[in-house]
Amino acid sequence: MRGQKLGAGLIAQSQSALPPFILHRPTSLGEAVALTRQHPEAVIAAGCSDLVAQFREGLEPEVLVSVQRITELRAISNNSGVLSIGSGVSHAEGSRSPEIVSTVPALAAAWGSIATVRIRYRGTLGGNLLSRRYRYEMPVILSALGGQMQFHGGDITALPVSSLWERDSLWDRSLGNVGILTAVTVDTASLLWFGYERSMRPVSTVSLAVRKNPVAGLTVSAVCGSEYRQPFVLSHAAEATDITELDPVSVGQVLAAQLPDEAGDYAGSIDYRRHLVGVLCGRLLAEATGNQRKG
Ligand SMILES: Cc1cc2nc3c(=O)[nH]c(=O)nc-3n(C[C@H](O)[C@H](O)[C@H](O)COP(=O)(O)OP(=O)(O)OC[C@H]3O[C@@H](n4cnc5c(N)ncnc54)[C@H](O)[C@@H]3O)c2cc1C
Repeated sequence: MRGQKLGAGLIAQSQSALPPFILHRPTSLGEAVALTRQHPEAVIAAGCSDLVAQFREGLEPEVLVSVQRITELRAISNNSGVLSIGSGVSHAEGSRSPEIVSTVPALAAAWGSIATVRIRYRGTLGGNLLSRRYRYEMPVILSALGGQMQFHGGDITALPVSSLWERDSLWDRSLGNVGILTAVTVDTASLLWFGYERSMRPVSTVSLAVRKNPVAGLTVSAVCGSEYRQPFVLSHAAEATDITELDPVSVGQVLAAQLPDEAGDYAGSIDYRRHLVGVLCGRLLAEATGNQRKG
């Protein structure tokens, strides 16, 4: 059990206490970046819905930089085939955004289906991604869409959402500085279809996107998420010229067969998971081939 820290106030012994910390509430990105450079160990806070859990897990920040008052992080735009969603956009805002609803309606629908009402108003896109928890759904949803995370003020400027699970050291603030996540961009120009299946959550979720290749053919990208394992990215290049030429069952099986053995977990063996992911991919593709709208 964690001990009570000096200055933490009077609390029940069954509770753990958070030591006092300095809270900064900048109103511009420039100000926030300056603060994180001045305090490299600072923890970024958005809606705090996951941070509260991190505090219970032992995180004890000395400096907290809240990005909640930075309005530029809440911008959503759709220009020249690129959808840009600010990291500070809440789940409720994102799922109702006219730019998202009109460009990729299934993204808006998927986003509006996650979490509880209270968390949908509190939690943000940035927090969902950078909590880096397997069970959170925006990494699964946005990886299939080829989302690119845009950073400011750190050692990197952009990274694919799918790289969230690739380099643990990158995300350890004591080893480096990824800066502040400002937005996620999605190329919508080549996107033909997107869908998300969460009916089997927490055992398996699947997001799936079909894109037109620059020269010829289509690419089907699927991402499989689960409560206990990192999301896995699956991909299939098809020679088809039209989405209706894809065979949902066989493409679903090709995608599911790519799941590595470590995708098996306490909730299901790898054989069961491959079967389930094949069925979910097939279900999404059946919808895609019968409906060519972007969702
Ligand atoms: C009861 C409950 C149910 C939930 N159900 C679901 C669910 O069904 N599906 C689902 O996907 N999620 C679910 N969640 C998770 C929820 O969506 C996340 O907690 C939320 O998105 C986190 O956003 P936040 O703004 O509160 O992040 P915070 O708690 O403020 O931050 C989370 C992490 O992200 C970092 N961070 C935040 N913003 C930035 C930034 N701009 N730049 C750099 N780092 C940043 C913080 O430093 C911190 O490490 C649930 C949560 C709760 C409490």
